[in-house]
This record gives sequence, structure tokens and C-alpha cells, in this order.
Amino acid sequence: MPLLVQKFGGTSVADSNKILAAARRAIQAHQRGDQVLIVVSARGHTTDELVALAREITEHPPAREMDMLLSTGEQVSVALMAMAIESLGVPAISFTGAQIGLVTDSFHTKARIRNIASERIERALGKGKIVIVAGFQGVDEHYNITTLGRGGSDTTAVALAAVLGAAACEIYTDVDGIYTTDPRIVPEARKIDRISYDEMLELASLGAGVMHSRSIEFAKKYGVPIHVRSSFSDAEGTWVVPEADARRLGWAVSGAALAKDEARITIQKVPDRPGVVHSIFHTIAKANIVVDMIVQNVVLDDQAEISFAVAKSDLPDALSAAEAAAKAVGAGRVVHDAEVAKVSVVGLGMRTHTGVATTMFEALAREGINIQMITTSEIKISVLIDRPSAATALRAVHKAFSLEEAHEKPAPPFVPTVKPDRALKLVPLAPADAPNALPRGMEDLVIAGVDLDESQAGVALLGVPDEPGFAAKIFRAIGEANVFVDMIVQNVSSNGTTDLSFTVPRDTAERAAEAVRPIAGGRVVIEPNLAKLAVTGVGMRSHTGVAAAMFGALAGESINIKLINTSEVRINVGADIQSGQIAHQCLRRAFALDGDDNGES
Ligand code: ADP
Ligand code: ASP
Ligand code: MG
Repeated sequence: MPLLVQKFGGTSVADSNKILAAARRAIQAHQRGDQVLIVVSARGHTTDELVALAREITEHPPAREMDMLLSTGEQVSVALMAMAIESLGVPAISFTGAQIGLVTDSFHTKARIRNIASERIERALGKGKIVIVAGFQGVDEHYNITTLGRGGSDTTAVALAAVLGAAACEIYTDVDGIYTTDPRIVPEARKIDRISYDEMLELASLGAGVMHSRSIEFAKKYGVPIHVRSSFSDAEGTWVVPEADARRLGWAVSGAALAKDEARITIQKVPDRPGVVHSIFHTIAKANIVVDMIVQNVVLDDQAEISFAVAKSDLPDALSAAEAAAKAVGAGRVVHDAEVAKVSVVGLGMRTHTGVATTMFEALAREGINIQMITTSEIKISVLIDRPSAATALRAVHKAFSLEEAHEKPAPPFVPTVKPDRALKLVPLAPADAPNALPRGMEDLVIAGVDLDESQAGVALLGVPDEPGFAAKIFRAIGEANVFVDMIVQNVSSNGTTDLSFTVPRDTAERAAEAVRPIAGGRVVIEPNLAKLAVTGVGMRSHTGVAAAMFGALAGESINIKLINTSEVRINVGADIQSGQIAHQCLRRAFALDGDDNGES
């Protein structure tokens, strides 16, 4: 019998009428012959209210007690939902995370799922009951209650769909699908029919709050189709599906996202020697802080400047970690800016379309918005700007790519097929320090591969003006010279000037440099001998240690890192071409891609 997982978000269970409406929806599916499992969030603003209540008591509530408190919101919802379904004449049973053996690690308030024991759920489903599970919560191995991070009920739902081999996971929310950007900020945003896992992973982790990004990691790893739709209508929503099912030809950008509450940290005067970058990001990763937009400027006088962005809420912890790391490697001051925001555009089509960066930078230039930092990957471009310009920037970028217009005929509704062999085989837990420990949990990092590209060259513009419109002007000139740009990085300005670097196919580097020399207003340097190494996988940024592990492996071979780009699906670094092969091998070893045992012997 096919299984359907339905998740109802906070607004969808806000009051008794909405709970009853959700219950009827589940019963409809049950009557069609599906087994039905529901995951619910806390009602309405309950979680926010609980957070505020804790803050009234103390500025720094212990994380363990925070989880104890926040998990109560979902427990109220599951009980009410079970009562609602029973009252409508269908047998139902509710469970907390602990009751279904949803075991997590012990990182309170941002725990990751290790394992889910499916027996109890399967027994109840087998008896014809509708099963209701509390989202967002679990227990660690010592039975402490944990939560998965704000918005984490999506992750509970998709993880359960994966474990139980559900045909699909329906996410019922207060919008009727995933839009080209947040419709609350840009009312012209348009609903997307289908989107690929990779695009949604990027959008979610770059700020699109409609889905918890870790839920998309599960969906991609275990092939679960997700249907995001409105709990207040029957309209078809948005399907999040594998790339082959989502592919839209002919346009470059699928959506735009805003992360409004970001902070930027810069470590000055970082000694330029192998291992230093690793040491810094290792310290920050140990504090379990997600870092984005890591940018290292071009090295002058054997000293570099390293900047990165973190969520503003992580700033105090990130600053202490950065200060400790700076001291340990003999770097200079650590400075920060807590008033920044990140705007990103995402699209699979960027791999083949040129001019995406130029269009984005020109849109910002027209609004007079200064770009503080830039990073790119194959399918996204992110810029850091000052927070007051955030909404204007998002609207301008959305318009520049005509995202409000329908670019194609609507896709036919996606029909999920049940693949019985897809149900995940759970791996037994092994102690972390066991030799050749098996993967320790369902949410562990999965690395797909390491690639070496020896065909690129770097072009660096040093000491160039830090003013609105500069990047737009540069990339317009490069586009006119017919050069395809790959990675772009720009560091934050020190003393009114900045460094802007990018990579291009080696045989076009001279042409690109020629094109920008007359307008750069600074030094233009070609780095012809660049090797680009890319580690690809799922959840590369949200698993805090990946970049650090990559830098660590390179440091072990004394390889110096010249350029860094991070995204949710890959981390790129540029190194010296002589080191390319060695770097490739050491990264394959570091991520256990060599040999056939993969640690599973
Ligand atoms: P729930 O409580 O159901 O989990 P959320 O508030 O977490 O709901 O997510 C739904 C909200 O996400 C929408 O109301 C919308 O404002 C916001 N949102 C942000 N980005 C997008 C997007 N790209 N598409 C749709 N909604 C978005
Ligand atoms: N109730 C939790 C929150 O508000 C989890 C969720 O809604 O997904 O963050
Ligand atoms: Mg949500």
C-alpha cells in the first residue's frame, strides 16, 4: 500500500478549525487507499513565543533547556491532530520524536538526525491508523530532548518519507508553492512548477525560508519527491525533484533569495603559508557555525585578508572562534560588520549561459547599491550588501532576470512513482572514534567526488575602486570580449579599494585582461597557472567541517590556496597548477573516495 507523508506547518494548524481542516485532508488520502503519516509543527507563533518567554527569564538560556521548552509546541499539535482525526471517525495515534526513536546528535538547538527506528510507526500504519509525528524534535543517545533548528519540521517529514520509502512528501504551508523569490518581499514573484534538488538546496540555504535546507539534503540523497503546496486550497503546488525531471531549457536563473540577517567577519594580516586557512576554519567549524562566502584576497607582502559571512545570530560565537584562531596563527585584528545582507541568484542554466553576473551587478548598480563581497559557484551568485538596501536589491535583481514573467508553458503535474527499493537501509551506529567507523547517521555528509580542472587561469584586479557599478562595468567589458567567466570572488574593501578576481579558460586570460585594463583603475595581474579543485556532494556548507577538512588535506601537502568558493553542493579552491595532481589525490584520500571499501569493511 503506498505511503504518503504530509507535513503541516505552523499556520496550517494555528487554531482548531485549521487542525480539523488538515485532519480532513489526511483522511481524504487515507480513504483513497494510502497509508498516511502526518508531521506537524507547533501552532502559529508558538515557537517564537516560547523563545521570547525564555529570553524574559535570561539572556542566555542553556541550550538543553531551550530544547526541552521548544519541543513542547509540537507535542501540543500532535495530540490535537490525533484527537481531530479520531473525532472524524478514523483511528489515529500521535508520537513524539523520542517515542519513534528519532535519535540525533547532541548539538542542542541544531541537532542532526542519526537514525530513526521505523518499527513502531510501521506497526501503527499496518493497523490502518493515521500516524502523527511531532516535527522538529528528537532525542540524543542519553535521551535528552533535542531540536533540529528553526524550520526543522520539514526535515523530520522528508527524513521519515526517506526511511519509510514514501511515494512523496507533501509540505502544506501558507503559500501555494515555491516562488521565484519570497512573495512577501517581492509581490510580483511567480510560482515555480518544478525545481531541481540542487537549485532548491541553494535557494533554501541562501535564505528562501519556505523550506528547511536540510530537508532537501534528505530528499536528494534518498530521491524523495517533495510537493510544496497550500493547506488552504487544492491547487497543484511546486514539485522538488531530480534534475532530469525539473529541467527547464532556455533560461539561466530560476530564483533569487535574500538572507537578511548576516554578519561579515574579516581577519586581517593573515600570514600566507599553507595550513593557516585550515587552522582558522577548523576552529570555527568546531564551534558548529555555518560559514559562507569565504573570500581570501590576493596576497601582498606575504599577508592575506580573509573574510566570510555567518548568520547574525552566530556572530558572538563566530567572533570568539575567529579571535582565538587569529591569535593561534599570528594574524592581525579581527573586524566585523553586523549590518549586512546577502542576495543570491540560483539556476542550473547558469552553467551554460553567459552574462548572468553582469545582469545581476548592473541591476544593483542602477540602484546605486555597493557590492561588498562576491562569491559564485556553478549554479549561484551571491553578493554581500548593506542591510538597509536588502529589499531594494532583491526586487531589482528579480526584475533584471524577468523572473515575474512566465518563460514557458506550465509543466504537467508531476506523478511520483513508488520505488520500493528506494527505502533507505539504515546503518548501525558506531562510536565516532572506532577505526573505519561506518557513517554515523542518516544526515551525515555525502561526498560525490573530487574534480581537477587544469584548464583555467586567474585574473586579479588589485586595488580597484570600491564603488557602486564597478563590478558591472568590468564584467560587461569581459562579456563584450566574449570571455566566459567561471569563479568570481571579491573581498571586502580595506581603505576604499578592493580586489576582484575571477577565473577564465586559460587561452582567453590575456583577452580578458586586455578588456579590463583601460577601465580597472588598478593593477591587473594574470595567474596563468591555476588548478581548480572541486569537492562535490550534498550539504557541503551546512556540514560545518567540510571546508575545513578540504583546507586541512591541502595543508598536509603544503599546498597554498589561492581562491575559495563555497556552495551547498560544492566547494572550489584554486591552487598552483604544479600542485594540481597532488591536491586531487590528497583530497580523494581525505574524503575516502579511494579504494573500494569506503570505510565499510
Ligand atoms: P511553515 O510554518 O508552513 O513551515 P514558513 O513560514 O516556514 O511556513 O514558510 C512559508 C513562508 O516562506 C511563506 O509565507 C513565504 O513568505 C516564505 N518564503 C520565503 N521564500 C519563499 C519562496 N521562494 N517561495 C515561497 N515562499 C517563500
Ligand atoms: N516549530 C519550529 C519552528 O518554528 C519548527 C518548524 O516550524 O518547522 O521553527
Ligand atoms: Mg517552515
